[in-house]
Amino acid sequence: MNAGATDLDGSAEELAAVAVSLRRHLDRRRRSGLVLITLDGKESKGVDMVEQASFSQVEENDLFADSNPVYQARSLEELRAAIGDCQRCKLCSGRTHLVFGVGNPNARLMFVGEGPGRDEDLQGEPFVGRAGQLLTDIITKGMGLRREDVYIANVVKCRPPENRNPEPDEVAACEPFLKKQIELIRPEVIVGLGKFAVQTLLQSKVPISKLRGQWHSYHGIKLMPTFHPAYLLRNPGDKKLVWEDIKEVIEALRGAGA
Ligand code: URA
Repeated sequence: MNAGATDLDGSAEELAAVAVSLRRHLDRRRRSGLVLITLDGKESKGVDMVEQASFSQVEENDLFADSNPVYQARSLEELRAAIGDCQRCKLCSGRTHLVFGVGNPNARLMFVGEGPGRDEDLQGEPFVGRAGQLLTDIITKGMGLRREDVYIANVVKCRPPENRNPEPDEVAACEPFLKKQIELIRPEVIVGLGKFAVQTLLQSKVPISKLRGQWHSYHGIKLMPTFHPAYLLRNPGDKKLVWEDIKEVIEALRGAGA
C-alpha cells in the first residue's frame, strides 16, 4: 500500500471516529431532552426544547465535549468532582474554599447570588455571613421553608478579592458550573439575588431596580429577580419590595402544585 493510500485510510478512520462521537453526543442530548436538531437536520418545534437546548451553551458549542467531565456529570456530586481543585481563573489564588453550593439537589426553588464573601470563603458554604442570615430569614420566616429544602449557589464559586465584582474572564470560567447546576437541579423557580446574578443569568444590562418584581425566563425556568440581601442590610427600607417579590415566588410555587 502506498503512503497516500495510508493517509487516506487514516483520515477515513478519523472521520468515522468523529461521526461516532457526534452520533453518541446527539443521542445523549436527545435522551436528556436537550437536543434541538435531529440527525436528519430537522429542527424540533417545542418552545421548551428550544429554550432548554441553550442551557449548556458552552457544551453545545463544543460538540465533541464527550470527554469533558463537567459536561458528563449526572449529579451534583459528579459535577463537584469534575470541577476539582479548580485553577481555571485567577480567583483560585486567593481562595480558602471553593464554594460550590448547598441544599436539596431536587429543590423546586433555587437562589443564585453573586459570589462568596469572606465568611463563605472561610466556611465553604454560600450565604452564611450577615447577608446570608437575612437570606435564611427570608427562606425560613418569610417562606416557611427550611434552608435545606432549597438550593443556594453563586455565579462565581471563589471569593473575589476585597469582595469586588467578579470580572468577565472569571464569570466566563465559572458560569458553566452554575448552568450545569441549574440543569441538574431543574428547579421550578429561580430567585436571582442582586444586579450581578440577575444580569448574568439574563445576559442583560438593565438595572436591577427595573428587573425586580417581574417574572423572567431562564431557559424556560421562571426567574424572579430581587434585591441582594447585602443591599437590604444597607437599605432596609427596600425590604418591603423584596417581600413583594417573595410573595410572587410563594404564589408561583403554590400554583405549580405538589
Ligand atoms: N453574597 C453572595 O452573593 N453570595 C454569597 O454566598 C454571600 C454573599
